Amino acid sequence: MSKRKITLIPGDGIGPEVSLATQRCIEATGVAVEWETVHAGSDIMEKRGTPLPEDVLDSVRKNRVAIKGPITTPVGSGFRSVNVALRKELDLYACLRPCKLYPGIRSPFSAVGGPAPGGEKIDLIIVRENTEDLYAGIEFEAGSAEARALVQKIIELNPKAKMNPDPAISIKPISQAATERIARFAFETALKNRRKKVTAVHKANIMKCTDGLFLRTAKEVAKAYEGRVAFEDRIVDNMCMQLVQRPNDYDVLVLPNLYGDILSDLCAGLIGGLGVAPGANIGDGIALFEATHGSAPKYKGLNKANPTAMILSGMLMLRYLGEEKAADKLENAVAEVLKEGRFVTYDLKQDRNDPSAVGTSQMADAIIKAMR
Ligand code: NAD
Repeated sequence: MSKRKITLIPGDGIGPEVSLATQRCIEATGVAVEWETVHAGSDIMEKRGTPLPEDVLDSVRKNRVAIKGPITTPVGSGFRSVNVALRKELDLYACLRPCKLYPGIRSPFSAVGGPAPGGEKIDLIIVRENTEDLYAGIEFEAGSAEARALVQKIIELNPKAKMNPDPAISIKPISQAATERIARFAFETALKNRRKKVTAVHKANIMKCTDGLFLRTAKEVAKAYEGRVAFEDRIVDNMCMQLVQRPNDYDVLVLPNLYGDILSDLCAGLIGGLGVAPGANIGDGIALFEATHGSAPKYKGLNKANPTAMILSGMLMLRYLGEEKAADKLENAVAEVLKEGRFVTYDLKQDRNDPSAVGTSQMADAIIKAMR
């Protein structure tokens, strides 16, 4: 059997530890994989002068499938986010974040991960647009000549526009083409996963141009799926409240970039925290899988971080590759370990200081054992 070549980007912070745990679990499913390991992030920045060397992009373009550990982004200054750059360079326009509450996990709804209000388990899919919105990286420093020129131009075009002196400016582009693409992706995801409803999330009552276009376009796309997948929309602030109160009322959510980022973390909170929330960034015929969480620098090298989010991202990757049996085997093993609640990291224990919590690699050992 020929081996499937996959790019592995271990990342920085806790990235290398959770990546190794994931590699071991994927290999234990029996799927034949040849890893092509390439490095990006802050450590590489020091060695090679760029946090995203060209060979990383080349490897993903060639292999078409990659899995990545988290990468640190300096706040406010320093290099731009490698994560955002990868999504843009490879046109990974859809961010897929399934949020499923596994039995045994502590959630805000129950001390032991019992049913959410409504009686059923939480099982949502978030589809986030990845290429535009306020994440487009078009920003102007307060007081810069460019920001001042832009303010002047805006006032020239719209004399009613009011701004305080010398604002910093971030631009929010939302296009019909990108919205159509992401809305279609959300409906196709719903069909593929036998889901009943897509909810578009927006703030079109305030941002009539950008979010208004997002909503109108999503409604238009929904027409092609009438009778197969239901459609509705929610204003983002109301959506946050609804998700906390009645998560079972929702199925697949489609959102512009910024709201998608924020609601992904909110939903991660509903299902037990960032340690268990997987994700994928998908383009046409190309995909990069990664956990929702970041590089958690304070746990770097301590064998403490929860590997579940990245292992479940690996499970999503196996499904993407059509390896359904291996994916089921891995997901069932993760579910078994979570349900038993013995060989889990500190964040999954009832008491975070529970001395019986195990480390990253021991949790991976338990998952591998559960697959045998
Ligand atoms: P974070 O996700 O790293 O951490 C938030 C909190 O969750 C921390 O308390 C952390 O210790 C905890 N946590 C996260 N993952 C965990 C795990 N697997 N097990 C146990 N606890 C875990 O978010 P942050 O602190 O906002 O960001 C740290 C860095 O990561 C920043 O530089 C940020 O830009 C970057 N980041 C990268 C990605 C990515 O690579 N896709 C995503 C988000 C943030």
